[in-house]
Amino acid sequence: MRALTLVADRKLELIELDPPPAPGSGEVQIAVAAVGLNHIDVWGYRGMAFAKRKYPLVIGAEAAGEIVAVAADVTAFKVGDRVVMYGALTCGHCKACREGRDNLCENVKGVMGFHVDGFARERLNMPARLVMPVPPGVSMRDAACAPIAFSTVEHMLFDNAKLQPGETILVHAGGSGIGTAAILMAKAIGCTVITTVGDDAKAEKARKLGADHVINYRADRFEGVVRKITAKKGVDVVFEHTGAETFPGSLLSLKRGGRLVTCGATSGPSVTFNLMQLFQQQYKIFGSFGASMKNIRTSLDKMAAGILPVIDTELPLSSFERGLERLESRQVFGKIIVSF
Ligand SMILES: [Zn+2]
Repeated sequence: MRALTLVADRKLELIELDPPPAPGSGEVQIAVAAVGLNHIDVWGYRGMAFAKRKYPLVIGAEAAGEIVAVAADVTAFKVGDRVVMYGALTCGHCKACREGRDNLCENVKGVMGFHVDGFARERLNMPARLVMPVPPGVSMRDAACAPIAFSTVEHMLFDNAKLQPGETILVHAGGSGIGTAAILMAKAIGCTVITTVGDDAKAEKARKLGADHVINYRADRFEGVVRKITAKKGVDVVFEHTGAETFPGSLLSLKRGGRLVTCGATSGPSVTFNLMQLFQQQYKIFGSFGASMKNIRTSLDKMAAGILPVIDTELPLSSFERGLERLESRQVFGKIIVSF
């Protein structure tokens, strides 16, 4: 079977691997149909130093597929079921896992496609407990955006920032995979959405998605525009994932008692900010990484209800590298999907 592996920093190879054995106790075997690309794939591709892993590594952290075999002791799934897979090998029995806080597992073996072999291969065996059914009517392509992109946003907005209907939110990089999802999810509950983009073509697309105010961050200082739009009050919530370039301005965009939630640092990981501002303004800052299985199920339900991911590009497996380069260049509006 074909598998796409990282063999060295910035070097991918499509190789032939032996297919997996019949699924063991508690496992299902999945034929992968679509893989979603995320910034974590870019970090891995660049050879992020703290990733403890061995090359060659099968890449791909987010995917959907179809069940092709089940172990005799698995009753929750049958052959032909369309599914998505959790993107990390959690233990399933620590306190966090038992409480459904899967992304805080105390014994996690790693993120798929980053620390351990991922989903960019034709078939794999997975523990059935990490597999979730795709609702009827949701395509494999769209479902492949649930395990990371949609669920990360779900976890950030609703578990962490506790976004409420009617609130105002600033969504950074409204053209990114998670930015587009954040605009859609915030609009779906009746929020006012301000978003930033890097060019006018993206601004038009962000408006079409439902953003109420779009700021071209290359033309204007976004924090100044946000204060103008909100009559100097600031926003209730900032959805951060760009990091060093925007973080200080994001804090300045918050109203007193506002919440900032972040899951990324694509423009750099280090910032300086004023602690007096933090406590006097009573800001709440949430770090968010990944999502729970429940967030993934909710994401799939939202897709079934019509909140569909924005797809930038669909590529064949052999063009994965081109997808990563496109993601890295910020020339995207929505998600990049690689299909089998
Ligand atoms: Zn655990």
